[in-house]
Amino acid sequence: MVITVAKTAGFCFGVNRAIDIVENLAKEHKNVCTLGPIIHNNQMVNKLKSEGVKIIESVEDITKEQTVVIRSHGVPKSTFLTAEEKSKKVIDATCPFVTKIHKLAETEKPVLIAGDKNHEEVIGIKGHCLGDCFIFKNEEELKEIINNNPDLTKKELVFVAQTTFNRAIYEKCLNFLKKVCTNAKIFDTICSATVKRQQEAELLSKQNDVMIIIGGKNSSNTNKLYEICKKNCPSYLIETAAELNGKMLELLKDVKKVGVIAGASTPAFIIKEVIQTMQNENTEEKVFSAEITDDMSFEEALEASLSSFNTDQKVKGVVLTVGPAEIQVDIGRKQTGYIPQSEYSWDPNADMQKEVKVGDTLDLIVMKTNDQEGTIMLSKRRFDNIANWSKIEKANETKEVLEGKVVNAIKGGIIVKALGYDVFVPASQASLSRNSDLSSMVGTTVPFKILEIRRRRNIIGSVREVLKERKDEASAKIWDSIAVGDKFKGTVKSITGYGAFVDIGGVDGMVHISELSWSRIKHPSEVVSVGDEIEVYVKDLDKEKKKISLGYKKADENPWTIFTEKYAVGDVVKAMIVNIVSYGAFARIIPGVDGLIHISQISYDHIEKPQDVLKIGDEVDVKITEINPETKRVSLSIKETLPVPEKKEDEVVASTETAEETKEETAE
Ligand code: SF4
Repeated sequence: MVITVAKTAGFCFGVNRAIDIVENLAKEHKNVCTLGPIIHNNQMVNKLKSEGVKIIESVEDITKEQTVVIRSHGVPKSTFLTAEEKSKKVIDATCPFVTKIHKLAETEKPVLIAGDKNHEEVIGIKGHCLGDCFIFKNEEELKEIINNNPDLTKKELVFVAQTTFNRAIYEKCLNFLKKVCTNAKIFDTICSATVKRQQEAELLSKQNDVMIIIGGKNSSNTNKLYEICKKNCPSYLIETAAELNGKMLELLKDVKKVGVIAGASTPAFIIKEVIQTMQNENTEEKVFSAEITDDMSFEEALEASLSSFNTDQKVKGVVLTVGPAEIQVDIGRKQTGYIPQSEYSWDPNADMQKEVKVGDTLDLIVMKTNDQEGTIMLSKRRFDNIANWSKIEKANETKEVLEGKVVNAIKGGIIVKALGYDVFVPASQASLSRNSDLSSMVGTTVPFKILEIRRRRNIIGSVREVLKERKDEASAKIWDSIAVGDKFKGTVKSITGYGAFVDIGGVDGMVHISELSWSRIKHPSEVVSVGDEIEVYVKDLDKEKKKISLGYKKADENPWTIFTEKYAVGDVVKAMIVNIVSYGAFARIIPGVDGLIHISQISYDHIEKPQDVLKIGDEVDVKITEINPETKRVSLSIKETLPVPEKKEDEVVASTETAEETKEETAE
């Protein structure tokens, strides 16, 4: 048996596009739904269901959280607007060829549609008409419409056809219409994919003994292929390879030549299964309509039979439209050029709807031309990849610094994505510190240099080399100009018991613990933490030994200055007891300034020890009795804030005697 597979078998441009849109959405969103089955093929619909895509039968059933896809047949305008009201996101996967008919139909002039009035595409077109609309499926029905509406012959009217309408019937209708409606504006909207497929069905069914037509039994274009084929030879319409069972294989047993064609909504995997089943059972030889080479695998040969590739051809395209699923461009040929979203950019976060506008010129690579459909698939991503590889090779030669985003931390290093390529940076080259946490780098943008390019475009890079160079440059600049008193914003790099090391922009200096606070502290961590950004100034430096002492305390925050500006001897202030010793108690006047209340200044009464009348935390009134600026000491008295007690008579005598004795002692 010789099997001949039709060149036009499988998805057309519009169906392929709709499936791509749904599959891409299903990867990113939950709640993806199609308004009706996305295509007339149960196997593909079930495959999408297994990927989480649901089918909504009526626009009324849409809920707010659903992402709704309008299928390639299109819908009436009112349905689209209702869907937009009900759902937060409506994606229009209507085939651009059908959208074109919608635009033609959006007129108040009468619209004549050659098509099946029950087909969703025709219902959708009708739903865009603003005036009268007449639908007919053959010349007889058209004549009847004209007979019933004779004024149509005088009116300006628009004539369009369902994209899958039979070409021969269309021609008959057209001939009649041209004679009676001289003011009709005629638009040939039959999709060339359909025409070519039907022509190939006609040809193959004449050249072969049997035709196998693969596709959904509810698919109108598949049924049309079946109708065409069965006129010329025994033909069988099957949905899957499973239908090639015993009886069917028996029928094919002595057949010499079998032709295979498939509807526009038949996935390639089903065509492959059917061919493989026939091949396993019966074939001695297989042929494909497209050119194939000897070293192609079966799958590649089939792919080649479904489309002709013309890769690596560079073209410039002017942007015509930017949609969620693809960009359409004019590349100066009669075919429609389009860039699917997956071929737009190597960057998964790129948003083509934001980045590209109508009229932009893009550099592109031709990926696939389809003369049957009149489309050319293009890739911007592949063009960019070629251009970017040249940049990478140049950067390797010149050791230019590149930038990339860390996308993964793996055993032994990190992966940096730059210009669409993965660069491996070993752990030892990932940062200045050898012990840094590589996983914390994921998501950050880093500079790097290429160390080497190994076989198969394996790029090895170093972030450390760039950081070290930058640090050395910054350090040299600082040592050239640094002077005592210079101020810097620095980052605390590490802390020890005696101070904190601060990076002031490529050079580290040390802030001694005594320089961190005006108050007494036990450890630098009471004031600063690693990673803090602090303002420091140079207190001292030794350029030979490369040592810098930094100051952190600010003069205007000096508590002694604040105290002396605010208080004077004789002032009575409130103070808190912060320490008690055998000879008195220390009271805090302001943070950083404590004064001594000598035991003799606590009370007029004799006290054994300060604890008898004071405890830490007591708030007391004190009089400032002495301020010593040199020793920065303050003397305080509680006693002097108290009323002087009246003395008893014997105390007065005793005191007078004591005074006399003191005078005599002094005289002696
Ligand atoms: S048959 Fe033509 S019009 Fe219909 S979906 Fe396919 S490409 Fe679009």
